[in-house]
Amino acid sequence: MSQKRDYYEVLAVARDASPSDLQRSYRQLAMKYPPDRNPGDKDAEDRFKEAAEAYEVLSDDQKRATYDRHGHEGLSASGANPGARGFDDIFSHFSDVFGDLFGMGGGRRRGGAQKGQDLGIEVELGFFEAVKGTRKSLEIPRDVTCEPCSGSGARPGSQPVNCTMCDGRGAVVHAQGLLRIQTTCPQCRGQGRVIRDRCTTCGGQGTRREVSKVEVNIPAGVDSGSRVRKPREGMPGTGGGPPGDLIVMLHVAEHPTFKREDAHIHAALEVDFTTVALGGHVTVETVHGPEKVHVESGTQQDDVIRLRGKGLPRLDGHGQGDHYVHVRIAVPRKLNKKQRKLLEEFAAEGGAE
Ligand SMILES: [Zn+2]
Ligand SMILES: [Zn+2]
Repeated sequence: MSQKRDYYEVLAVARDASPSDLQRSYRQLAMKYPPDRNPGDKDAEDRFKEAAEAYEVLSDDQKRATYDRHGHEGLSASGANPGARGFDDIFSHFSDVFGDLFGMGGGRRRGGAQKGQDLGIEVELGFFEAVKGTRKSLEIPRDVTCEPCSGSGARPGSQPVNCTMCDGRGAVVHAQGLLRIQTTCPQCRGQGRVIRDRCTTCGGQGTRREVSKVEVNIPAGVDSGSRVRKPREGMPGTGGGPPGDLIVMLHVAEHPTFKREDAHIHAALEVDFTTVALGGHVTVETVHGPEKVHVESGTQQDDVIRLRGKGLPRLDGHGQGDHYVHVRIAVPRKLNKKQRKLLEEFAAEGGAE
């Protein structure tokens, strides 16, 4: 190209084109003259380079301002000289514009120590196990690092070697004309290293499945949905990374009479109608055992008596919940002669007023 065309003309946009106008136009041109479609086609190649160069300048505010004021000479003078750049630079902004369109930027990053995955396990607890806390011995099938090869998968005494296909990079670049597409290396699956001589214990996996016993302390006060985390008891890490955690997800059985509300317990209690009328003592079953409780004279149906601190320990360590007694008044279904006579006398005195 002896005479450089105007960049706005190349991209077929107005001089006040917005960044998204530029991007749209550049994208269209690149699709029209895709360098990989006509390898060796000098004209398509030139068109593509021209568009890439125009886009490189106009998408950069500073270069665009220089170009607007001083044209192509201005850019050469400022040292920006876009035409002299290699294709690496052209491709450096390529992925910004096309993103996933061509699968650019693919290839998993290899190497580096990675923490193992967390391992979740569900555990059923009895109601009182949750109240008192407990210790559970869990049998957990999980992958553990193979000892003979220390997790490398290579036969003890040997080492994994750099992958020959990707030269240890974990990714391979397919050149198609001017377009380069990077993908995960199929030989090493992105690891960058391959095992020539496999460990016979694990067959090259670096791990083996094992059912291990893990002891887990379950604190008092847990409820359904509570999670207990046991650090470093999950899946093994890779590349020397630490293992993940074991996460014990709890499900607590319901109780026929004690209903939980966080750290509080609610329970109904039948109280004889004479006791609520006269006042007196009753025995209340709490999760911690029986409690003697005073019932006030004149207590009504559904009145609530609160027993402070007789619920469950709060998981945040701030004391205990309460036990709420919901009063149900027990009225006799049958009266003997004497009871009837006494109640008739009571009624004659005005009854429950
Ligand atoms: Zn490879
Ligand atoms: Zn092994």
